[in-house]
Amino acid sequence: MNTILLATSNAHKLAEILAVIQDPDLQITTLAQAGIDLPEPVEDQPTFEGNAILKATYYAQASSLPCFADDSGLEVDALDGQPGVYSARYSGQTGSREVVDQANNQKLLQELGNRPPEQRTARFVCAMAFCQPDPTIKPIVVRGTIEGQILTAPRGQNGFGYDPLFFVPDLGKTTAELSPDHKNKISHRGQAARLIWKKMKAQGWS
Ligand code: IMP
Repeated sequence: MNTILLATSNAHKLAEILAVIQDPDLQITTLAQAGIDLPEPVEDQPTFEGNAILKATYYAQASSLPCFADDSGLEVDALDGQPGVYSARYSGQTGSREVVDQANNQKLLQELGNRPPEQRTARFVCAMAFCQPDPTIKPIVVRGTIEGQILTAPRGQNGFGYDPLFFVPDLGKTTAELSPDHKNKISHRGQAARLIWKKMKAQGWS
């Protein structure tokens, strides 16, 4: 049976990705399960794809296992694509995930001020990379996106990060108001996971 490493310590991302990639012949191990306790690599690439490849390569080499990792974030049109690859550390706040998420959301609301809905368009982006310990083997890289609008106040209790502010007009809900299953069906991460899984299967990873 093939074992591959899923390199994320974010429990929400882990659940979202594992819900898509399920195969009885494939064992997916997490960083904790593989006993990998290393400092996270510095995500210094200018693109989501660059950071996903950086993370997957780093952990593939550290574990000697094929590894996939994602890098994701929010692009807001009125802010020239910010916070983009800086989404996780937008406000500069440190602390628990909840504290950081709240500070990031606060900063986003401040930056957008009282712009009207049509000037609050945004998208979630998720790049996913599957890399081998042997760096000469070409990674598989994919991208998923979902379009939405940033609200003026948070709504919903599910999800994480910017979900309570990310409104999907077609559904009339924020991604924090969707069930985990529903979010996965339409989200940037769900799309990227389905796409990379399809490509991995085409290369015999199942
Ligand atoms: P990463 O761990 O570097 O990929 O950081 C991604 C950051 O983008 C997260 O910390 C969130 O702030 C934001 N983000 C990415 N995906 C989502 C999502 O599905 N919902 C809400 N926020 C997200």
